Amino acid sequence: MKNNCVFCAIAANEIPSFKVYEDDLVLAYLDINPFSKGHTLVIPKEHSSGLLDTPDETLAALVARVKKVASHLKAALPCDGFNILQNNGEAAGQTVMHIHFHIVPRYGKEDISFISQKGDMDELKALADRIRMEG
Ligand code: 5GP
Ligand code: ZN
Repeated sequence: MKNNCVFCAIAANEIPSFKVYEDDLVLAYLDINPFSKGHTLVIPKEHSSGLLDTPDETLAALVARVKKVASHLKAALPCDGFNILQNNGEAAGQTVMHIHFHIVPRYGKEDISFISQKGDMDELKALADRIRMEG
């Protein structure tokens, strides 16, 4: 596995994922332990570990894709709002050392307290199939 990194393996299709969006630079897929329905991760295909070692051009493209995917999710799920999270370093709760933005959809006044739920693989597959975007 390149860089011994699970997200590089997902980007290389060595590990399956429930893809929502893909283009030359980025990949977006459902988090397998979601905070809420439609919780999506957006990564650059090129490995870097966090905000500080990611080139500015990559970051600019990544944030533009986060906006594009979030806009789509808001309409397609639909959800009422969303949180964007991006953790840097173990001390900040980062568990996968390949930069990623979380898009966490929010529904009404539901209190999700940002606790991971063990994802149901059949439900995740059905949801990804329903909301997948064209590249
Ligand atoms: P972090 O805490 O590093 O910001 O977030 C890492 C996220 O990646 C977690 O929410 C976790 O559920 C998710 N995750 C870890 N391994 C995998 C995986 O193999 N596939 C997917 N889709 N998500 C993963
Ligand atoms: Zn990686």
